[in-house]
Amino acid sequence: MGVESVTTSLRGPRRVPATTIWPRRVAVLSVHTSPLEQPGTGDAGGMNVYITHTAIEMARRGISVEVFTRATSSEQPPVAELAPGVLVRHIPAGPFEPLGRDELPAQMCSFTSGVLRAEAFHEPGYYDLVHSHYWLSGQVGWLARDRWGVPLVHTAHTLAKVKNAALAEGDKPEPRTRVIGEQQVVEEADCLVANTPVEARQLVGLYDADPSTVHTVEPGVDLERFTPGSQQAARRALGLPPDAVVLAFAGRIQPLKAPDVLLHAAAHLLADRPELREKLVVLIVGGPSGTGLEQPQALRELADTLGIAEQTRFMPPQGGAKLAEVYRAADVVAVPSYSESFGLVALEAQACGTPVVAAEVGGLPVAVAHGVSGLLVPSHAGGDWAAALASVALRPGRRAELAANAVEHARRFSWQRTTEALLGTYAAASRTFHEALRPEVAV
Ligand code: UDP
Repeated sequence: MGVESVTTSLRGPRRVPATTIWPRRVAVLSVHTSPLEQPGTGDAGGMNVYITHTAIEMARRGISVEVFTRATSSEQPPVAELAPGVLVRHIPAGPFEPLGRDELPAQMCSFTSGVLRAEAFHEPGYYDLVHSHYWLSGQVGWLARDRWGVPLVHTAHTLAKVKNAALAEGDKPEPRTRVIGEQQVVEEADCLVANTPVEARQLVGLYDADPSTVHTVEPGVDLERFTPGSQQAARRALGLPPDAVVLAFAGRIQPLKAPDVLLHAAAHLLADRPELREKLVVLIVGGPSGTGLEQPQALRELADTLGIAEQTRFMPPQGGAKLAEVYRAADVVAVPSYSESFGLVALEAQACGTPVVAAEVGGLPVAVAHGVSGLLVPSHAGGDWAAALASVALRPGRRAELAANAVEHARRFSWQRTTEALLGTYAAASRTFHEALRPEVAV
């Protein structure tokens, strides 16, 4: 019997003429949350904003983007247009209702099947690249990559090992199955996108990622929407007194984001300076999310317990223009998270000319220039936060200086810049992918 050599790889290479745009069409996977949702509550947050803006920027460069997300309502059309050149495909997988992240893994086969079927309606080679966001999508992307013979780029957004190492007191750790799932995606992806050098090191150090496949691409901010403006006009629009001392938090309300730290800080501030009692306003913008859904009233109860219910104002998640007013109205925006892969809220607030006081964790030291555009606080103690917030909010000269620098700092980050860097990563993923193609030998 002779030995027969055959190529059995599913990853058939395709040649695209050098003159055409590459990639022509990208499949973006966003299983657990849709870019059409309002961010700031539930599963919708920075990742949705990231996907929306990078997709729009790619479309402006002539690249078609199709975002696949799980259908959560029977009212959703199978395909919706997010912007010219950007489609959102709603894939039925499980019930037409939101599912918890612990329930989603059971729907992955169904979701993957929906993605593969959508592609099968087109001529072969319809998508040039798959970009998955969050580990659940990475699981789908890995199979799609093998079936379609295209590179897989993956952005984790958050990492279970990192989150678990910095949990808020009493918060529930991420399950082991997620850690295993993340590990698999790290091993399978042709390129991994990290938001900051810190995250790149975490991928290498904690997940043993090959450093040559990890690309750092800083997220951006919508510099047309988030612009400096009149603090007084913003306060009038929000019904806030012109002479108030306004401390704001915006984002998904859950222990990891630590809005409670801001409330504790406010209570400390009032204990030290009772004269502020009539002036202080703590603005909390956003809705419950993650483990915060288990006790959606917890923050209101804490405000009551701390005796600052009168000073605390809760607002539901706000769309872009209204959110910009919140940022402009504030003397300081607080980002007290225990873990933060980047922290878009910090950039947005600075782009509006408001200094940020942030926890010194994850990507926040990139988003906020300590002592220049805001302050970084190395602890989560209420007293430390009260001191940091007061040192900005109650010193108009200092605040004005930080505010001017904040605008400059934020200007360095744009979604155009992020998208250009992502396209560089796509090109690198294509090289890695094609270099990895090896004919397999069957006997
Ligand atoms: N956000 C919003 N409305 C709100 C609160 C937040 O649109 O009421 C958006 C905000 O503009 C930001 C995102 O939600 O872009 C939160 O991103 P971030 O990176 O700060 O946190 P993540 O949600 O990714 O943990």
